[in-house]
Amino acid sequence: MELTVRTSGTYRIMIERGCMDAVGERAGELFKPGAKAVVISDSNVLPLYGKRILNSLEAAGFSASLFSFPAGEESKRLSSIEAMYAECAARGLTRSDFLVALGGGVTGDMAGFAAATFLRGIPFIQIPTTLLAQIDSSVGGKTGVDLPQGKNLVGAFHQPALVLIDPDTLSTLSPRYFSDGMAEAIKYGCIKSRELFDMILREDVSQKIEELIFRCVDIKREVVERDEFDTGERMLLNFGHTFGHALEKLYDFKKLSHGEAVGIGMVMMAKCGESKGITKAGTANEIIAALEKYNLPTKDEMPAGRVIEATALDKKNSGNRISLILLKEIGESFVDEVFRGSLAELTGVL
Ligand code: NAD
Ligand code: ZN
Repeated sequence: MELTVRTSGTYRIMIERGCMDAVGERAGELFKPGAKAVVISDSNVLPLYGKRILNSLEAAGFSASLFSFPAGEESKRLSSIEAMYAECAARGLTRSDFLVALGGGVTGDMAGFAAATFLRGIPFIQIPTTLLAQIDSSVGGKTGVDLPQGKNLVGAFHQPALVLIDPDTLSTLSPRYFSDGMAEAIKYGCIKSRELFDMILREDVSQKIEELIFRCVDIKREVVERDEFDTGERMLLNFGHTFGHALEKLYDFKKLSHGEAVGIGMVMMAKCGESKGITKAGTANEIIAALEKYNLPTKDEMPAGRVIEATALDKKNSGNRISLILLKEIGESFVDEVFRGSLAELTGVL
């Protein structure tokens, strides 16, 4: 399956079992023979797939090397980017050369940011290996790193030159990370597609993984094509994230994974909408059923008042107004800007 994204850069997304082995051939359509490539990957993914990528690039006539960093969100910081710059400079990369991000969202965000800024921008290829990276972070061009003051505070928009999604990589992924990605898949269904939501709820997605990824990526494509720089519609992708981010922070990113927190956030938002008569009755229960199917939590003992208070820390808010993503029903969403003060009334419903 293939898709084309038309933003400031136009690029193809290939979704196919085993397609990572075609990276050399595909890159051959984009870059000159003999170009240099630095493959960036973390300490878990590199031993699993690094050699295959290197072999494919070399067979296609590229001069490729591997660069690895310690796996984990703790690595997503400027010092890692500096190490990547050093590698690119030592290898003498020019703007005719390229980077390859091989790994999850952490790898993609960092390799993308290094590519966005080294020599004021060189191309990069995304080969996402977690479900989250395959359906979300590898598409859309948001790249960046964390600061001690908060997540994703430094970054750039830089679209990839190509995205190769190989669903076979999910066979080595831990079940918790798979569920984490499923929370985002459920989110896509909630905001844009009843059909996708029903597929997730009623069918065995492991048997239809390419179709699942395709449908999710197609929604992301549509949204980022309309709002590449995140000033309007792209906000819909934050459904469940306002309360989700607050929960993640309240637990200092230790108790809940991102997907787990977002899942709980989606249920909270649906309940808020239902209590106001905006969201169709029964929606929260449908989301709960979908989350439970993928072993995701649906509630947390943190008092709702504290979660609401913690939304003040969200970088996406300006002043005393906050943008909430609400559902009319599964498959239909909208952005509602409300006064922060009015959030307090919701404590009772949550
Ligand atoms: P991650 O990259 O840390 O990967 C999760 C873990 O799985 C890591 O330990 C990794 O080594 C391991 N792993 C990856 N692929 C594997 C495989 N195939 N087999 C075995 N192990 C594998 O985390 P993630 O959940 O993929 O991504 C989270 C990051 O993505 C966050 O930093 C978040 O901010 C970012 N993100 C970015 C965007 C965007 O639009 N740019 C969107 C959503 C999330
Ligand atoms: Zn998310």
